[in-house]
Amino acid sequence: MPLPRGLPVVDHHCHLSPSGEGVAAARRFARAGGTHLFLATQSYTPEPPRTLEEYRAQFETTERLAARVREETGVRVFVVLAPYPIDLVSATAAIGPAAALEAHRAALDLAGRWVREHRAVALGEVGRAHFPVPADVASLIEEAFRHALRVARDADCPVVVHSADLDAEGFRELATRAREAGIPADRVVKHFTRARVASSGTDGVAPSYLAQRELVRQVEHDPEPWFLETDFLDDPRRPGAVLDLATVPRRAEAIAAEGSDAAERLAIPFVRSVERVYGLTLAPGEGRAS
Ligand SMILES: [Zn+2]
Repeated sequence: MPLPRGLPVVDHHCHLSPSGEGVAAARRFARAGGTHLFLATQSYTPEPPRTLEEYRAQFETTERLAARVREETGVRVFVVLAPYPIDLVSATAAIGPAAALEAHRAALDLAGRWVREHRAVALGEVGRAHFPVPADVASLIEEAFRHALRVARDADCPVVVHSADLDAEGFRELATRAREAGIPADRVVKHFTRARVASSGTDGVAPSYLAQRELVRQVEHDPEPWFLETDFLDDPRRPGAVLDLATVPRRAEAIAAEGSDAAERLAIPFVRSVERVYGLTLAPGEGRAS
């Protein structure tokens, strides 16, 4: 069964690189039926940025890629920006904790400014390391996360959180953390969620599920908000490290094949959750033309 007409098909978290497949990957996504990408920035250089100017150059690269994808493929792209929390590990070693944190905070401020200027829709990825780091670096990363939450509150935008896998208690802790910073939990997304968390256990935080076949089967009847993502890395040195960019449209097609209420169910990750978390209305006209 084909994808329902007019339905947006959204990959909620991917990366593209000018030195990777870039626009060609987005074209593959479009050919498979995809219509909207949330494009998260990443470091495009061998060493992560260490100054505000280097972060600005990184964000501009992401913005240029987004513009090219829109122009050359017709896919709608939403840009998500922040200095990657893990950058603090190497930056601290290279320039010391004070300078590393200062550049990081300035880059978060810049990302917040771009959100207010509608050049980006959310701060991300922000959060924590997904592997053990020395205690002094961990506290820097915490300080950066606190600042990220303040910036998101002031820019009134969602935060896309990078962290180790979270169970229900982890989701609760994240929701509490956000509320304490003045951000409603439903503006918080846990990206790269690899196991189903029942909606009763997310405390309002939206899981963005890795679009693996089994996991999609487990979550597809859950109420909003939740998303599907590939976390496509577009890194030729790491093929298959994450899912291919054509995966979300393929999963959507599999759900569409299941029956007549498929359009309604697919609207949860692709329309209603986007509206609820981002305040973005993906009109049917923006979706598939056929
Ligand atoms: Zn990512």
